[in-house]
Amino acid sequence: MLDSIRTRLTLWYTGVLALVLVVLSVTTYFVFLRSVERRTDANLNELSETFLVTLRAELEDQTGPDPFKAAAQVAIAEHLFRDQVYWVADATGKMIVSSLETVPASSGKNSPPPDLLSSASFQEFLKAASHAERFFGKVRGGRNGYRAFARRFSARGNNYTLVILQSLHAQTEMLEEVTVTFAWVIPIAILLASVGGYFLARKSLAPVVAMSSQAGRIGAANLHERLVVQNERDELGLLARSFNSLLDRLGESFERQRRFMADASHELRTPVAILRGEAEVALSQQARPVEEYRESLSVLHKEAQRLTHIVEDLFTLTRADAGQYPLQPSDFYLDELIVECVHSARTLALAKKTSLAFDDAAEAPIHADESLLRRMVLNLLDNAIKYTPEGGRVTVQCRCERGEYALSITDTGTGIPAELRPRIFERFFRADKARSRSESDGGGAGLGLAISRWIAQAHQGRLELTRSDSTGSTFTAYLPANSGRTEFPS
Ligand code: ADP
Repeated sequence: MLDSIRTRLTLWYTGVLALVLVVLSVTTYFVFLRSVERRTDANLNELSETFLVTLRAELEDQTGPDPFKAAAQVAIAEHLFRDQVYWVADATGKMIVSSLETVPASSGKNSPPPDLLSSASFQEFLKAASHAERFFGKVRGGRNGYRAFARRFSARGNNYTLVILQSLHAQTEMLEEVTVTFAWVIPIAILLASVGGYFLARKSLAPVVAMSSQAGRIGAANLHERLVVQNERDELGLLARSFNSLLDRLGESFERQRRFMADASHELRTPVAILRGEAEVALSQQARPVEEYRESLSVLHKEAQRLTHIVEDLFTLTRADAGQYPLQPSDFYLDELIVECVHSARTLALAKKTSLAFDDAAEAPIHADESLLRRMVLNLLDNAIKYTPEGGRVTVQCRCERGEYALSITDTGTGIPAELRPRIFERFFRADKARSRSESDGGGAGLGLAISRWIAQAHQGRLELTRSDSTGSTFTAYLPANSGRTEFPS
């Protein structure tokens, strides 16, 4: 159950809310308590002032044997409330009058207990208050105790002490009510909030649940299906879009793989069919002249060579795709490599009466995989000769510009149609399938440029068709001149 984000979110939300509510209520309670206490103290102080005013005024009017006591009794009678007690004593602390004796204790449950003024707690308060002019304290007794206020005063040249006790019962009852209110409001608020929070979490996560079930239904067979994006701009919309673009990329990659497999099997089928056909023809007749057998064998040999070539190219590309084609770099001179390649391609060029020239370049030291670069240059030369009509011209140049070698191979062929140019580096792509296939010079399977481009890229370089028109084409390979080595062994 805790594995569900909905539940976890709800629990977190409820927990945090409960904590906030508890902290808030405890703080409120204490702030409230403090304010009530302050108000009580201010009341007691004010009450003492008005009491003394009355007492002094009464003292003027009294003529009896103990005018002070009589005046105090009148003042008490005037100011006394049900939950208060007045106590007046002389300078020695001997009680002169108290509201408990002037007004007989009523039997109400909030009335002060008769023994309040003789209680140990009251005596302790008096002791504590004896050193101060004004003193606030607490006295136990009654239902919830009393707030006590003592102050000294003088009248007709004598010193006296006035103590007013204010029952805390009403205040305590009010605070209890607040506590009880908190005690039931908080759990109800938490319960409501957690139910609401759960539904909210459920509602917000519903699109995720829907997306995961949609995603669960998408497989190789229906890779074209996409998640429904409800709101493009929110986080879930972003997730759905990212997932959809992942599916797009996967779909493209699947499609490339599928095409690659289809093209590869198609390319392999032709030479295999030729091999089988030729072998069947050779075997079908009992006795054939030796020349015919030789002819058949040479066809078989040529097709087998072609087959080997295709399989090798396929193997190279597969390893390159998987990142498993480790480069074996060494230091050598690129210009020398080009001379060697031009030399190797000479026979091919001669057969097509094509002139092949290398504009001699300056020394071009390079740190690269020699056999891969040889393969690239031979591929490009092979294409240039292959796609240039008899009597044409193929020239090779190698310049060093801005820290990179620009190796270009220019032919005087018929060029590549503009609409096909972007596709020539694709695997198995041949601008003119019929022509390539029918050529007897081992016409490729359309993998040569794909492999050559990969070789350039594997060396942090690039291969581009830099020019192609009716007068011919130029392929240029750009390779970093300083691929990791600063010094070059002589
Ligand atoms: P292929 O094995 O068919 O030569 P490539 O990958 O080497 O395959 O070339 C792909 C296609 O690009 C070729 O079939 C051809 O149509 C076109 N192409 C490549 N090089 C040249 C060139 N120098 N001149 C004209 N077309 C070319």
